[in-house]
Amino acid sequence: MEMSLSVLESFSQRLIDANTSLQLQRWHATSLAIWLREGCRCAYCGRDMLGDRDFARSYYEHDHVLPVKDYPQFEDAQGYRVLACRACNSLKSIWDPNKQSKGDPPIVADDAKEVSPEQLRELVRRTKKYLWEIRTRYERDFFAEKVVILDALATIGFESDASIAATSGS
Ligand SMILES: [Zn+2]
Repeated sequence: MEMSLSVLESFSQRLIDANTSLQLQRWHATSLAIWLREGCRCAYCGRDMLGDRDFARSYYEHDHVLPVKDYPQFEDAQGYRVLACRACNSLKSIWDPNKQSKGDPPIVADDAKEVSPEQLRELVRRTKKYLWEIRTRYERDFFAEKVVILDALATIGFESDASIAATSGS
């Protein structure tokens, strides 16, 4: 089901007006509409952003799918933002899915005034692919780093939960 952001914004505003729990947390209709449009999941890794309070409050961002630095015309346009977890947004940084996706031609002109919903979905698809590639590489580095640190912990006499997971895991 794909609903336009403006339809979801009116729906969200009605929800906020009718629910003090949403008012207490100061939900803004546009923000809630972006959450609903993405099914409350990170648009890139699919993480459930409603899974727990820490995530819902502290680890979400509204990512500009096209980096503001290169496409300043979309800076304030909410329709070109997606719900993203902080980890994905930080890994993506200023990477441009329109011009830097290997093997994919640009689909949005530099001076474009609009991005269609189809273009936005394609840019999200490219970003998911890119993040999967760099995440795989970074996770390999992280695992190597973790092994060294866990060894150090064992050397100085700590029993850590992580060490049990690391040895019984993959
Ligand atoms: Zn994510």
